[in-house]
Amino acid sequence: MEPSRRELILKELGLFPLWVRRDRMGAQTRTLPGPVLDELPVTAPPAIPVIARDDRTARILQLDWAGLKQIVKSCSDCALHKGRKQTVFGVGDENADWLFVGEGPGAEEDQRGEPFVGQAGRLLDNMLASIGLTRGVDTYIANVVKCRPPGNRTPEPSEAAQCEPYLLRQIQLIRPKLIIALGKTAASNLLRTDSSIAGLRGRLHHFEGTPLIVTYHPAYLLRNLVDKAKAWEDLCFAVETMARLKAGQPAQMS
Ligand code: URA
Repeated sequence: MEPSRRELILKELGLFPLWVRRDRMGAQTRTLPGPVLDELPVTAPPAIPVIARDDRTARILQLDWAGLKQIVKSCSDCALHKGRKQTVFGVGDENADWLFVGEGPGAEEDQRGEPFVGQAGRLLDNMLASIGLTRGVDTYIANVVKCRPPGNRTPEPSEAAQCEPYLLRQIQLIRPKLIIALGKTAASNLLRTDSSIAGLRGRLHHFEGTPLIVTYHPAYLLRNLVDKAKAWEDLCFAVETMARLKAGQPAQMS
């Protein structure tokens, strides 16, 4: 029998034949994400913090899409602008329910001006496809920093801090139902924590009131195939959470 498109995608992700939890062996095999949410620990949603913003941030948080795109395009507020070919603003549906946040543009992204278009991007597209999503359709993809760090190094905290108001304004304008932080840089900057991905994944967090789930960065998964199964678990958790949010149910069990 011809493999289905879904099977081909899961195979590409290294997840086919379908991964089945040991405690569910013998239970009916699922082809769609199972009800993992009920079994996962959650953190209580924090009250939305009242944050004192500096003048620059306050100005950025007033901008509409056009103003924001323009200011990012000409930004020279940190040293990263010196090495870029162009800024990489973000891509997708500006009213998306799903927001995926990565670290920063690499060489191909810098050339093309679009996030996640290299090898890691192809894996991200396959991860999206595995849960029925397509780049640009109800999804938005952005990064912590909009300019390529030299040699693809991790952005310095000061660089991430300068770029933060841009991402914050993108999030305010998109108003996603769920944010997926891809990797440590996105998770630590959005959640202000130094915890590892292993310590953050598997539970629901919040960024300024918006539910947020942490998973591995696709570039990490390309080097650590064994963790693809955990990323799949995270995607299943995200699908369950989104279903709850769309049904108007609390994103987490009380
Ligand atoms: N890695 C990222 O974090 N973002 C990109 O846009 C590309 C690679």
